[in-house]
Amino acid sequence: MRRKFLIFIGAFLIMLGLLSSGFAEEQDGFYASKIDEKIFSRIEGKSFKKDCPLPLDDLRYIHVLHKDFNGETKEGEMICSVYIADDLLDIFMKLYEAGYQIERIRLVDEYNADDETSMRDNNSSCFNFRFITHTKKISKHGLGLAVDINTLYNPYVKITKDGMILEPATAGEYVDREKDFPHKIDENDLCYKLFTAHGFEWGGNWKSVKDYQHFELPDSICSKLYPANK
Ligand SMILES: [Zn+2]
Repeated sequence: MRRKFLIFIGAFLIMLGLLSSGFAEEQDGFYASKIDEKIFSRIEGKSFKKDCPLPLDDLRYIHVLHKDFNGETKEGEMICSVYIADDLLDIFMKLYEAGYQIERIRLVDEYNADDETSMRDNNSSCFNFRFITHTKKISKHGLGLAVDINTLYNPYVKITKDGMILEPATAGEYVDREKDFPHKIDENDLCYKLFTAHGFEWGGNWKSVKDYQHFELPDSICSKLYPANK
């Protein structure tokens, strides 16, 4: 009797161990780390351009899990600001748990830091250093404070007197937001809900341009984090 009881307890403990290790593995897929030499060698001269004045300590590498368009679990990598790393981990964890599909999350450096190529591949990303054209002001992506999700399905659209500027240029069939299609970000979308709950603004709500893929920290916060950046 005593022996049976011990076997029962043993089996119970093994099951508990299996359950908790499974849980740990899930959480293990989500972490942030400093930019070490190995990571820096991947971004140097690409997203982290020669003239980038940001201290490396202001950036973080984050590793996440996500569901791709086949519903399979994939690993994702992103460089972002230290100020939003925890927010992003929380957002991507909740998206993953909900089965939200993001096709790929790769470093933009794998596309030689070329936004257009990355967007055409529907890549989701964050940090890519650049100054705003004709200024010495660093853009929000340049500070790692803006994130783009499922970029092909959620393009940047600007109507000018000379016509439409569309990024990526291959996203023509996703310009009409009245149309119903998968992976469309709108105000009912979980991504929209999670990012805005974390204090981000959505580019789809802008007036002069529409940037449906884009979530960023508002100017009021960015100017406090980087008062000299103007
Ligand atoms: Zn963007």
